[in-house]
Amino acid sequence: MTRPAAPALPADLAAWLDAHAESLDTDAADAADVVPRLGRAGLFRVGVAPELGGAGGTTVDAIEAIAAVARHSLASAFVFWGQRTFIEYLLQSTNAGLRARWLPALLAGEHAGATGLSNAMKFLSAIEPLQMRAAPLDAAQTRFALDGALPWITNLRREGFVVAAAFDRHDGAPPAIFALPHDAPGVARSDDLDLIALRGSNTAALTLDGAELDAGWLIDADARAFLVRARPAFLGLQCGMSIGLARRALEAVEESSPAVRAALADDAAALRHELDALTARLYAGVTSGAFVAAPAAQFELRIGLAAVVDAAAHLDVQAAGGRGYLRSHASRATPNDTARRSREAAFVPIVTPSLVQLKSQLAQQRRSEAA
Ligand SMILES: Cc1cc2nc3c(=O)[nH]c(=O)nc-3n(C[C@H](O)[C@H](O)[C@H](O)COP(=O)(O)OP(=O)(O)OC[C@H]3O[C@@H](n4cnc5c(N)ncnc54)[C@H](O)[C@@H]3O)c2cc1C
Repeated sequence: MTRPAAPALPADLAAWLDAHAESLDTDAADAADVVPRLGRAGLFRVGVAPELGGAGGTTVDAIEAIAAVARHSLASAFVFWGQRTFIEYLLQSTNAGLRARWLPALLAGEHAGATGLSNAMKFLSAIEPLQMRAAPLDAAQTRFALDGALPWITNLRREGFVVAAAFDRHDGAPPAIFALPHDAPGVARSDDLDLIALRGSNTAALTLDGAELDAGWLIDADARAFLVRARPAFLGLQCGMSIGLARRALEAVEESSPAVRAALADDAAALRHELDALTARLYAGVTSGAFVAAPAAQFELRIGLAAVVDAAAHLDVQAAGGRGYLRSHASRATPNDTARRSREAAFVPIVTPSLVQLKSQLAQQRRSEAA
């Protein structure tokens, strides 16, 4: 499968992302602007059917759009991932009413969508229990009381958000996934977490204390089945961050002086080749739906892409030399993009599903196949 052409971002958005990439990484001053700007550029509509208000195209086009933003700013690409992944949940939900209510504002970037499903993904892999609980308030299960806490969620915009989370049920029913609006009584967002990078991503903890919602907020009554179906898009969209960051780091090597470029040419070409091959396999699996039944194949690709990001960021550092070790490029008083990309790259292995988790799951699978 050939790689789709990376969409060109509107020039004003690309310029804004470049001008604010450093501040989006180091502080929260511009955090409120990211979703509306990406929305105005039409990026949340990519890969969404026209009859639902989208621009058409496929999930692969949406991955490429996230990659295009990640070339400029990983904090923005991560916000994009949160928003687009929540949109994806609505697209895959059987709750047409919830979709109709929320899709227009989310596609336009007028409201933020977030995914708090790392806990659920870890639950699906038997790593940790669900940290949220839902108790039905009536026999017909039309209303639920919701409690619990999630320590990390990105794109919890202070101006308002809706977030997906999975809930354990103590009445024997399977765990369910709800959408939670920021303004339901009992829903509380913490202050921004004190991150070492990506600080403009509106990342905070969420606490629910007796929040009450009706069944109209259910994304799916069977979290396990839903997550298995949604995981290829969740993970594929997330890989867009790795693809874009690795491409930009390799471009930075290309932009270095002829002598540096020549010295690093073989390493850069090998990484470029590996990146393109992994990307093509990812897109083929997302397109065919093969990762629903064979998640391990996608896990291998996520691990491979993370290794490429790591190596490309190292090459970027080598190409920049001592200049890359200064806080800013003194002659131009511009921020040090190489250092920012190194900080951004440090995030890639830890976002769920983390490399530790995936390697452990693949090892488990190999053991059970051997037994
Ligand atoms: C900046 C930032 C933004 C985030 N945004 C979001 C978000 O929007 N939504 C969201 O849901 N989450 C988000 N997270 C959470 C993130 O995706 C991970 O869940 C979290 O960083 C991993 O948790 P931990 O390191 O605390 O894992 P721990 O539970 O402390 O585990 C450490 C590592 O070991 C692995 N591990 C633990 N136990 C096992 C086991 N039994 N078998 C195999 N592997 C195991 C874990 O996967 C992890 O890699 C964010 C995190 C960060 C840093």
